[in-house]
Parts: sequence; structure tokens; C-alpha cells
Amino acid sequence: MAKSVGVTLSERVFTGLVVDHELSGELNRFPKDEDELGALVEMHTDAIVETICSQLVAAAGDTKLDAVGVAVPGLVKNGVVEEAPNLPQLKGARLRDLITAKLKEHGIEAPVTILNDADGVAAGLAASHGKLDSMIRVWTLGMGIGFGRYPFTPGVWEGGHTVVTLDEKETYCGCGGRGHLEGVMGHRSMRLRFLDMEPEEVFEAAKKGDARCLEFKKLYHRALAAATASSIHMAGTGKFFLTGPYVHFVDLPMLKDYTQQMVKMSPLQGYSLEIVEEKAENRVIGSAVSAEQAAGL
Ligand SMILES: [Zn+2]
Repeated sequence: MAKSVGVTLSERVFTGLVVDHELSGELNRFPKDEDELGALVEMHTDAIVETICSQLVAAAGDTKLDAVGVAVPGLVKNGVVEEAPNLPQLKGARLRDLITAKLKEHGIEAPVTILNDADGVAAGLAASHGKLDSMIRVWTLGMGIGFGRYPFTPGVWEGGHTVVTLDEKETYCGCGGRGHLEGVMGHRSMRLRFLDMEPEEVFEAAKKGDARCLEFKKLYHRALAAATASSIHMAGTGKFFLTGPYVHFVDLPMLKDYTQQMVKMSPLQGYSLEIVEEKAENRVIGSAVSAEQAAGL
């Protein structure tokens, strides 16, 4: 029975002890108060490592750990954070080495895995849906658009930056690239496109028949369908989960309709799209399960 700690890092640090793919006890969170949510953005890397490790030590208690998994919002390779648009101070940080060394000071010697947070979501969903033996993909719709896949496969997988339009006016992606999925669906890009409206108001107005908002709603769904279709054409058919704080903007029948128009080859028809609720528990379990698999458990 594997015992691991999973950690996720975004606006908050969530930490939990995971025993046999299930959360054991309560989830720890930092910062505790909603109004301190900006705290992490202002911390330098050493302080973030310190925070993660103190949460980890508290979650582990007296348990001897088999693995530690830490999910971060960014591009991760071999334990190094290569890019982290929402926590830019982490860019270049050798997070695996830093956390391993700090944990040693506390007497914890378990192998540490650093993973992309969307991959952690995918692993958590695979575990909770009894799909640890099949390939699943997940779109996380939040400030940015994350793309996760399970099982872990070496690669870049920046699916949120899939090119979904050749329109030269589509320049809203935070990475600076033209025509990207996140440039349509990301929070910042929606704010730039509708300077006078919050995303919630845009979708509300679309419901009431506002032409400009309805046009955008269609673009939003066609963009997600296009990126999904591209993934199907490259990696094959299978299960796609949709989750994240903005998943309630998704009109599933509309998304399915557009995807159907874009995927026509009969061997690729076995895909399915499903909306699931965003849960921190799932992310934490996914981080732990990914770390266990990386450790060969
Ligand atoms: Zn981009």
C-alpha cells in the first residue's frame, strides 16, 4: 500500500497524505484565508520551497513516505520549472533538488517528482474514475487553459497554446503567440477582447441573445473543439475531461456538435467529452499517484 504526499501549487498550496490512491485525513491549505490569496505570487522561490516543505512535513506526520509529488502551473522538465507564467519567480528553479534537500533536513528521504498541474488533474481523474490503465486527457479552464494527460508521457504538451485560428487579429494570448486557444478562452484574453465586460457577463449576455457575445460564445466553443480535434488527430481517440473554475461556461452539446464537424474519420469516433467538477482533493491525489508511478511503485 503506497503512502505518498501530494502537493498542488497555484493561488494556494494544497497538501494531503494519500494512502492507496485515497486521501487520508484533511487537506492542508496555505494561505488559510481567502483574502491572502495573493501571498504566493509575492514570495521568492526559497520562501515558496520553505512553505511547501512545512506543509509536506505536517501532512506526512509520522508516516514513512514512498513518494512526494508536487504539481506546479507551468512547463516542467526533469524537476526544473522551465516556464511558469502565473508564478514567474519559479522560472528556472530546480524545484526537485530544492525540495529534496529541504525535506532531508526534516528527516524525509522519499523521491520527489515535480509535475505539470494539469497532468496532476489528469492522473487524479484517472484514479477516481478507475481509469489508471487507459489514456485520458483533460482541459483545465481557469486563468489560463491547461492541458493534462495521463499516463505521463515525456513531451511538452502545451495544449493551451494550440493554434485554433488563422485570423491575424487573434493576438490575445499571454505568451504572445498568434491564434492560440488560450488567446480565445483564457481569462485575461477574454478581458482584453471585452474591455467593458467580465467573462460571466459575456456568457450571460449571449444567453439573452446579444449578437457580439453570442458570436464570441461560438468562437469559444469552436476553439476548444478545434484543439480537441487536433489532439484526437495526433494522439488518437479516448476520454477528454473538462474541468476548472470556468468550466461552467461550456455548453457541452455545442462543443460536441463542433467537435463532430471536425473529426470525421471513422477510427477516431470513439472519443468522449465529459465535464467534471473542480476539486483540490483530486489534484492532490493526482500529484501523489504521478509521483508513485515515477518512483516505479
Ligand atoms: Zn499562447
